[in-house]
Amino acid sequence: MSLPDAFLQDLISRNRIEDVVSAYVRTKQRGRTAVGLCPFHGEKTPSFTIYPETTSFYCFGCGAGGDVITFIKKIENLSYIDAVRFLADRAGMKMPEDKADDATSRLRVKILEINRSAARFYHNILYTSEGRVGLEYYYSRGYTDRTIKHFGLGYAPDGFALLNEMRKMGYKDEELAAAFLIKKSSRSGGYYDIFRRRIIIPIIDIRGNVIAFGGRVLDGSKPKYINSSDTLVFKKTNGLFALNFAKSSKKESLILCEGYMDVIALHQAGFDNAVAALGTSFTEEHARLISRYAREVIQVFDADAAGKKGAQRAISLLRKTGVQIRVVTLPDNKDPEEFIRIYGPERFKLLIERSVNDVEYQLIELGLKHSLNTTDGRISYLREATKILSQLSSPIERDVYASKLSDELSVSKQAILDQVMRYKKTDTKQRKKRELSHAVRNSEEVVRKVNPEAGEHLRAARAEEELLGLLILHPDYIDIICENLEPDSIVTRFNRGLYQCIVERHRQGKMTELSFLAADYHDDEMSYVSRMVQNARETVHTPEHVLELASVIKSEHRLKVLRNPEQIEDDKIKEVLDVLRAKKT
Ligand SMILES: [Zn+2]
Repeated sequence: MSLPDAFLQDLISRNRIEDVVSAYVRTKQRGRTAVGLCPFHGEKTPSFTIYPETTSFYCFGCGAGGDVITFIKKIENLSYIDAVRFLADRAGMKMPEDKADDATSRLRVKILEINRSAARFYHNILYTSEGRVGLEYYYSRGYTDRTIKHFGLGYAPDGFALLNEMRKMGYKDEELAAAFLIKKSSRSGGYYDIFRRRIIIPIIDIRGNVIAFGGRVLDGSKPKYINSSDTLVFKKTNGLFALNFAKSSKKESLILCEGYMDVIALHQAGFDNAVAALGTSFTEEHARLISRYAREVIQVFDADAAGKKGAQRAISLLRKTGVQIRVVTLPDNKDPEEFIRIYGPERFKLLIERSVNDVEYQLIELGLKHSLNTTDGRISYLREATKILSQLSSPIERDVYASKLSDELSVSKQAILDQVMRYKKTDTKQRKKRELSHAVRNSEEVVRKVNPEAGEHLRAARAEEELLGLLILHPDYIDIICENLEPDSIVTRFNRGLYQCIVERHRQGKMTELSFLAADYHDDEMSYVSRMVQNARETVHTPEHVLELASVIKSEHRLKVLRNPEQIEDDKIKEVLDVLRAKKT
């Protein structure tokens, strides 16, 4: 699939990489580049770098890199063509007509259409005799008709209700299966509805598309919840339920709950900024998504052991994104929905007002685990507590909590602060070491995957990478190099292909910058190429130097041939045979 160069060029110039990225990553200008915390891996030291000059990015931490299209592909979880469409929309451009619809994006559109029809079917059935039981269930939980309509709640009857309906509407079984609504039976080989005798909660993204469904049983049968698996339009680990509504509530904070029933109850009670992860535990991607829409997160998790564990996990992931965290503790082991039903919204509002920040919450939880009446208990409590304080980056905050602890436990504040600093030092050291070794491992991993031969031919690969990076940065060298370096002389396979691609595009008068290669290379390959380009930026380049690289590659190639004489003999023989064969016919 190839788009016209002129279109791509326009697309890239209208979507400046620094602007596009800034919607996802907070960046700081550093000379002619901008740096920020990488959205593709967790880190505390910014190693994600944007290069406006080459319209590209590269992360020194995880080795992810590429152009603006690759960035959108990765962060929005889209195919190449859908990422292009995303950027075209962003810039108010029209996609070139005939190229716009390849099979995958057609299926994507179809799945969204199917989901919308299915959601309508599940909702409408509530008001028929078949779905009455679902409607009554909602009423029993105190949901109003307005809430049911607002969230598009529905009910999935038994049997093949949806399948029959959707077939009538002209959808194909394979399309319905791709939307995770029906499944093939391993016994009979026929299709059946995945959601049966369950209330249905449609999941809607911020663009208003129905992207998935959650289904809950009415009775005690198992499994209690069924949620859509990942499809072309849905990725479990990065969807937040009700973000579409919470986003338009225009509040500075988001309330994070565990389940969608909690979220619905909160919205009905007027807390329209509540969201929840979708049928999975909280992930790094959720944390990043939240940090895009809110400055503050109010965590309202269940009071049971699982809820507490989830809360700790969310705290550690959210803290990395820099959002403020507050934690609401629910009394008497209630979940948010129960609490509101019993005590009403006013009392819940009070709970939010009395919520504590993440450090206070962790200290309280810690206090519950240690008996502070004994010396041993107090010492181990203090040891853990100072560890928590050592994670605070603000010295003022550290000081405030140290004072508090000092008062509570009658230990000198200086002793506490000393201990905090000691943990902080070892922590920073360990973290830096960890991040560095990760960085090295990750970028080696990318090379190993993309260009495995680079490991055996280090010297050649290094020269090839530098040369290719320079050619992409400075296409005016391509002509000189073409005359001096046959593609066959490139030692490693991936680089040979890349060189051929660049030379060929150049010969056809096409662009050879990073963004024009994105269509032909997958994400890891783009990361590798992006690394070449970033490294080459630092090279002092002259025609002599570029030619020198070419001669290093040629001599490495000769060495390789000498090391494997049999191989070349075989090839020669084959060539001769081929020629003879061709003459015969
Ligand atoms: Zn990274």
